[in-house]
Amino acid sequence: MPQQTVTDQAAEASEREWPKREPIQTGIRGRCPRCGEGHLFKGFLTLREECEVCGLSYAFADPADGPAFFVICFGCVPAVVFALTLQIKFDPPTWVHLFTTLPFLLLTCLLPLRPLKGWLVCSQYFFKAGEGRIAEPWYPYGPAGPAVAVPERQW
Ligand SMILES: [Zn+2]
Repeated sequence: MPQQTVTDQAAEASEREWPKREPIQTGIRGRCPRCGEGHLFKGFLTLREECEVCGLSYAFADPADGPAFFVICFGCVPAVVFALTLQIKFDPPTWVHLFTTLPFLLLTCLLPLRPLKGWLVCSQYFFKAGEGRIAEPWYPYGPAGPAVAVPERQW
């Protein structure tokens, strides 16, 4: 039996029907949004070029500041509120903050980053999120109505 090349396997994988996988299930575990088995990350937060199992290119993935936004809202703000409450109510020495506030701040800010980034990348794949573009004529009055043609690009 002849050996398949990597290109053949990637082409075969892209033609195959894949089940829809919930972004929350694949993303939090850092798995590929298409096959659910390959890894998304090659470091703590660095995305791989493509899935090592199904060959899906992760070039579409651009969560931008999304993970940081969620961490700031749901991690940093409660940690700062904790630190301020501790300081105002008990006025402890600085070493107390080193052993309570600092670990709490690091845990609430660093731990959720990776699962949040994975969830956002998988959601981007699941919902086919991307930049808007008009590539086909638009039928605002239904298929039998007049079409709004795509204008020729001037540039
Ligand atoms: Zn995959």
